[in-house]
Amino acid sequence: MGYTIQKVGKYYYQIKHWVEQGVQKRKYIRSATKEEIETYEEMRKLKEQIFNVSCSYPECNNHIPMTKAQKHEFFTTYPMRYGTLHLPYCSKSCQEKHFKELQSEKSKIKVK
Ligand SMILES: [Zn+2]
Repeated sequence: MGYTIQKVGKYYYQIKHWVEQGVQKRKYIRSATKEEIETYEEMRKLKEQIFNVSCSYPECNNHIPMTKAQKHEFFTTYPMRYGTLHLPYCSKSCQEKHFKELQSEKSKIKVK
């Protein structure tokens, strides 16, 4: 069970979350306070902040724009969920070139 602030239209509410027999439930508790709205907006801005993640192919200087939330999903949520860490590439061709190098005879790395 937890409480979060959510924006609905132009209003902000404190919402209570809980799980009942495997189903996500929520209930509007009250309007959010000024402080809660400010914190919510700051968090939202941080999540939407764009980072330029560099392409994993060492010969490439391109960057991939990602929000903090996407970066978190890519490097934390997905690896934890699927048990594999994927590297970000700007293009399919960079990925293929890098995989080819990593799969060379001398390589000890397992590439899927
Ligand atoms: Zn690249």
